[in-house]
Amino acid sequence: DQILRESMHKYKPIAWEDIAGLDYAKSTFMETIIHPLQRPDLFKGVRRPPRGVLLFGPPGTGKTLIAKCIASQSKATFFSINPSTLTSKWVGEGEKLVKTLFAVAAAHQPAIIFMDEVDSLLSQRSDNEHESSRRMKNEFFIQLDGASTNEDDHIVIIGATNRPQELDEAVRRRFVRRIYVSLPVAQARQQIIHKLVQQIHHNLSDAQMQGLAELTEGYSGADMDSLCRYAAMQPLRALTSSQIDAIDAQQLSAVTMADFMEALQHVSRSISTED
Ligand code: ATP
Repeated sequence: DQILRESMHKYKPIAWEDIAGLDYAKSTFMETIIHPLQRPDLFKGVRRPPRGVLLFGPPGTGKTLIAKCIASQSKATFFSINPSTLTSKWVGEGEKLVKTLFAVAAAHQPAIIFMDEVDSLLSQRSDNEHESSRRMKNEFFIQLDGASTNEDDHIVIIGATNRPQELDEAVRRRFVRRIYVSLPVAQARQQIIHKLVQQIHHNLSDAQMQGLAELTEGYSGADMDSLCRYAAMQPLRALTSSQIDAIDAQQLSAVTMADFMEALQHVSRSISTED
């Protein structure tokens, strides 16, 4: 009960414009989740969308962000389940919990169940797998299959994983629609910088932001976020504690290209090319 209450998050609304790039993922979600939840009468029978959608791709590329955005845009009840905490906290209770989760979601339709790190909950079956975790997986399959046969059911399950190769066939089959969430291209990286520096006093020109986007090939969205945070702190790092105490916020110097060049020395891309 406590876990389920914790998982019914209320996020600050996230708009599609807050997510840089990923146009294919966005349009797929409009078609498979947003529109069908708005107009279930149009999306039935052969047009009925899949219940299970899998987001896969490198860490920090916006999978969680997309799920939160869908929750804000669709006005569905949003359940967020992180299997690694679930399984450790609730050893042996997983099966019951999955059953309850789907029952509560059914009572709060339309509902979206977001399962982060779905690979760690539904990883390939191994011989020494615990009986309780096997039962939980089976319960999950039963619920997923049940949801997909009932026309009046408006529950969507979004799974996210950085390691899709660790999902077994039984799991993959149930996530009918699979969407690759890629690293941001230069234009998307520039958009992320642009959005973040809007929150602070800076003197970067558009050309400089474009230059930074070109210098950050291979950076994920989360890396871009860390880079901007590091640069944004530079004017404060130049001050002593007593200066910080006394300074008027308006007097703080602008964040410059030099601050970003310094940040680039400290924040590198987190994903290697072999990934
Ligand atoms: P993980 O697989 O590690 O859970 P994830 O793919 O779910 O990662 P998020 O948690 O969605 O990644 O992204 C982390 C942060 O990085 C976001 O909160 C956001 O600040 C930033 N970010 C990532 N991708 C984007 C993007 N495409 N546009 C804007 N910001 C992004």
